[in-house]
Order: sequence, then C-alpha cells, then structure tokens
Amino acid sequence: MAPNILFLIIYLNLSMRNNKIFSELILKWYKTNKRNLPWRETKDPYKIWVSEIILQQTKISQGTKYYFNFIKKLPNLKALAQSSEKEVLKIWEGLGYYSRAINMLENAKSLIKKNKEFPNKYTELIKLKGVGEYTASAISSICKNEKKAVLDGNVFRVISRVFNIAEPINKNSGKKKFQQIASKLLPEKKTGDYNQALMDFGSTHCTIKKPKCEVCPVQNMCKSFGLQNINLRPVKIKTKKLKKTRLLNYFIVIFNNQLYIKKRSKNDIWKNLYEPLLIESRKIITKKIFKDSFSQSFKKIILNNFKLSGNTSHTLSHQNLEIKFWTVHVLKLEEKKENSLLKIDIESILEYPFPKPILKYLNEYLIT
Ligand code: SF4
Repeated sequence: MAPNILFLIIYLNLSMRNNKIFSELILKWYKTNKRNLPWRETKDPYKIWVSEIILQQTKISQGTKYYFNFIKKLPNLKALAQSSEKEVLKIWEGLGYYSRAINMLENAKSLIKKNKEFPNKYTELIKLKGVGEYTASAISSICKNEKKAVLDGNVFRVISRVFNIAEPINKNSGKKKFQQIASKLLPEKKTGDYNQALMDFGSTHCTIKKPKCEVCPVQNMCKSFGLQNINLRPVKIKTKKLKKTRLLNYFIVIFNNQLYIKKRSKNDIWKNLYEPLLIESRKIITKKIFKDSFSQSFKKIILNNFKLSGNTSHTLSHQNLEIKFWTVHVLKLEEKKENSLLKIDIESILEYPFPKPILKYLNEYLIT
C-alpha cells in the first residue's frame, strides 16, 4: 500500500475515533448537566415543534411560559387546526414574528385536511411552511433519533472552538463546513440526546463569555483552548444594516364606550394583528389630515380635539418604531355602512391580539 494512502487511512481512523470520543464526552456531560425543560419530557413531534418555533425568537425563561400556555390551549394538532387565526395570534401576542404562528396554523389545517398526523421524519417536516433545516433536524432527531445534526448559535460556537474554525458562520461556505463537521460528530445512537446535549453544552458551559474551560470535559481536544484564541471564535462577518425609523401615530377613538380598531392586512410588520386607527406620518397631524385619512370609514366625525397621551419607542430586528398615542375627543360620529373598522367594547379588548407596545398602552390607559 502506498505510504500516502496508509497515512490517509490512519488519519481517517483517528479522526473517527476522536469524533466518537467527543460525542461520548458530550453525552456524559449531559447526563449530569441536562436542563429540565418541559418539552424534554415528551417525544410528541407536535409539542417539540411548538417549543422549537417559540424558542426561535425568545429566551428559554420567557419561551417556557408561552409553551405552557400554547399547549394548554391547543394541546394537539387537531385543536390547533380547529382554532381561529385570532386565537392563535392572541396566544402568540408579545412574541413577535407573527407570521410563524400563522404558518403553524396553516400547516395544522393542511395536515388535518389530508388526514395526517404531525410528522416526525425529516423529509416530511422540511416540507412544512416555516420549517427549515434546523427545526426539521431537531424534531426528527429528538423524536426518531434520525441522524440529522442541528446547528444553532451554541453549536456553532462549540464546534468553531473545538476545531478552531476561522470560517465565518454567517457565510454559506462557512455554514457548509460546520454542517459537514457537525454531521461527522453525530453518534450512531441517541442522536436526539446528543443534539440537545451539544446545544446545552454551548448554552451553559462553552458560553460566549467566560467558558468553563478549566473544568471542560473536551478540553484536551479543544484546539482553540490550546491556541488560546477562544475569544476569536466563532468568526462572524459584521454586516451593517441601516435600520429604518418609522413614526406611527395611533388615535384612540372611543365612542359610546367602544374602541375603533383595524386589522393589519398588508405585508408589513404585525400582519393580521389589530391596532387603533393609524396615521403613519412625520407631519403635524391636523383635524383635517385625520378626517381625510379616515374618510372611507366615517361618514361624519366631529372632533373636539386630540392630545398626545403616550409615547414609546420599539425596536424590531429591521426597523425602529417611534410610536405616539393620541386620545381623540369625539363629539359626533357616523360610520359609513361599508368600512374596514371594527368597533369593540372596552371590556373585550383583551380578546384581540395586539402588537406588544400597543397592548402595553391599552393595558395602562384603558384597561386598568
Ligand atoms: Fe469551550 Fe473551553 Fe471547553 Fe474549548 S475548552 S470546548 S472553549 S469550554
């Protein structure tokens, strides 16, 4: 056998053995350090899916409350499919990324219509709306031990340090490399436990700041520890995104103890949630501007005045919002027969899903 082929075989064997040792050490660490999370007590793919989608946008502490509430109200796929968009958005209220909740509802309706259960196989999961590689890998490995590696921020960090990878994690070539390594590290059995173990290990042990290197079970294999460049891993290319700032003027129009609201229907932030009457403008808003803006809804509206009653800023991932709330004193009001406004009793406000800053205002000024 040629020496270079022999060398390659020895190298591959060694690397496979190291991969096995790594996964065993991580699983051993998990046995004593596993976090007790409610969705870890089940193999029901529906419940794991709910937890995964919720945790995509929030920390575990906050996500746990949403998970319990979601499962309590909609304990299975059928219950979700039979619920209304308003109910689902109400449960999701405050979490943000509302399209994810709408996707969940659409998936549930479509699966039930086809007489299907919620899937646990990667190839089926990946077909669902809003389910990407990460979520499909997580669910299929946890529920069926499918050999699918998950890559979240914690896993990227651990792998980048243990293997001293300088490729940026937010570049396609980098992601590909991490995916290859993560797949090779997967054990033959207990893939679900291992995936969760690696995420926990990154989250509580190999942390961004102050990783516990001195008591680390994989310290001997950790290249970055040896090279003392832990703080430089993982590498991420900084992308400068200029956030646009919008000014939203909300008008609290109450007449006969009823509040006028509208459902947001455009492809914009907070789609399908409810809001008071809105004028998005930087101009000084006069009575005329107000009347013109709502001329399609009101046949007649006589205002005494409106005054600023609340002011807040809200940051979304891609835009900053400056929000002003105006209390409107209405003397007389007549609606048009056909209009897109909704009149709701003050007492029933909490039945409607509102964006977080609006709900906060309504809670402070109208409900309490
Ligand atoms: Fe992370 Fe430190 Fe362990 Fe390396 S030695 S895996 S950097 S905790």
